[in-house]
Amino acid sequence: MGLFQKVMVANRGEIAVRIIRACKELGIPTVTVFTEQDANAIHITKADQAILVSPGPVAGYLDHAQIIEVARWAGADAIHPGYGFGAENWQFAQACEDAGLTFIGPPPEAMRQMGDKVLARKLADEAGLPTVPGSPVIGTAEEAQTWAGKIGFPMLLKAKGGGGGRGMRRVDTLEQLLNSLQGASQEAARNFGDPAVYLEKLIEEPKHIEIQILGDKHGNLIHLGERDCSIQRRHQKIIEIAPSLVLTPEKRREMGELAKRAAALLGYHSAGTMEFLVDKDLNYYFLEMNTRIQVEHPITELITGIDLVAGQIKAAAGERLTLTQDDVRLHGFAIECRINAEDPRNNFFPSPGRITRYQSPGGIGIRLDGCVFGGYEVPPYFDPLLAKLCAWGNTWEEVLNRMDRALEEYIIRGIKTTIPFYRQVLKHADFRSGLFTTNFLAEKMPSLAYKDVHEPWDLFYVAGATLFCELNQIAKK
Ligand code: ADP
Ligand code: ADP
Ligand code: MG
Repeated sequence: MGLFQKVMVANRGEIAVRIIRACKELGIPTVTVFTEQDANAIHITKADQAILVSPGPVAGYLDHAQIIEVARWAGADAIHPGYGFGAENWQFAQACEDAGLTFIGPPPEAMRQMGDKVLARKLADEAGLPTVPGSPVIGTAEEAQTWAGKIGFPMLLKAKGGGGGRGMRRVDTLEQLLNSLQGASQEAARNFGDPAVYLEKLIEEPKHIEIQILGDKHGNLIHLGERDCSIQRRHQKIIEIAPSLVLTPEKRREMGELAKRAAALLGYHSAGTMEFLVDKDLNYYFLEMNTRIQVEHPITELITGIDLVAGQIKAAAGERLTLTQDDVRLHGFAIECRINAEDPRNNFFPSPGRITRYQSPGGIGIRLDGCVFGGYEVPPYFDPLLAKLCAWGNTWEEVLNRMDRALEEYIIRGIKTTIPFYRQVLKHADFRSGLFTTNFLAEKMPSLAYKDVHEPWDLFYVAGATLFCELNQIAKK
């Protein structure tokens, strides 16, 4: 018998395609779900079977009871949640297990503990990981004042249930903190269903560096080095690199071993990521753990040659890790650019709509994980991620040149994308030096200006369409 009879891929977009591909290579049939407004999505055509769930456009993907029911009806014996949607919901993981379906992810209890940002910090501290100085949940103005005295300004006021870069505000003075407390709590209740907020020291000019781990159900754990995800807009990653250009082999080993130790204490298995902030003296502070496959996992796959999604599936099926820590070798450099349907020149405003022309890049060292095609109408309801363009090179110089070449080849017309913006980032001396911090985009935005790409015939289309409308109007008169 194979690893599983059938896997329910409970997601959409590029990550659903990524998981279906892994299942195909392992000889496992797949079933997926979609909502009415998402009927042209590409994951539907890639899976062996696709079932309509409701209501659309989004709620059907979040209806865990319905997804479990559909999975059982289709004869699936495992569920892969991808990222987003139900991926970090420990109750969903538990409900899958209760229904006799293997959840392809870590144990629900580890998800519960790490999903609570305040508890996660406490557990990390107990495991010997340095954490960002911070407070427990703040209930009153007095508590806020006491903790502000201990931590010191500037600080971040964070929602305990926050995620996806949302739910944090900077506070520089006691007055600001006391004025923000109530509003932050109300906002947290509204956005995350949990009013709890806490304080964290603001680490100035940090790098965001995260360690990838992978483990089996027999207590074996390895780490696969780090990713530098400091290029962010609104606290959300958009370009990632592996390995970091600043981490020394000693620091990598130290952080990796600590991440494994913390994971072992949680009884962790499957893939997971420990996120850290790192200052210029290479002091590192645990930020949070993501108990799922991460968007940017392909760059780790490119430098290690290890298939993380297949690793998750094998671990879930109870297979033993065949790799030891010594087998993990990092080769060369990789970059990921998140190709988003957004307008960087308009504050990264979403740009859904019809793709009128599409031509994907390729060639040596290029990997593309996408979910769009020419004629596809990008729906406004979901994540703006169209594709993840990754490049691999023997050297940093080679990977920079290769990524720029691939971005130049990549043609997406009809909507605005982040492609032309990334070419500017790749040219910037601070990016090329590898020394960039999470402040890079906010600070360098003015120097990253570019002209929009227009093909000569685009103008003809516009002129033609205008003329057609005019003639129509005249004909009607
Ligand atoms: P990663 O850490 O894997 O790079 P992100 O932190 O950007 O990715 O989040 C992964 C996905 O999950 C994104 O699609 C993001 O929008 C979504 N996400 C994560 N947490 C939340 C949350 N609490 N609320 C809304 N969306 C979230
Ligand atoms: P999320 O759950 O939204 O991913 P994180 O806690 O992982 O939230 O933080 C996301 C990003 O916000 C970080 O990568 C970093 O850029 C910024 N950030 C978060 N906490 C701090 C902090 N204490 N000091 C400085 N920057 C921070
Ligand atoms: Mg995070």
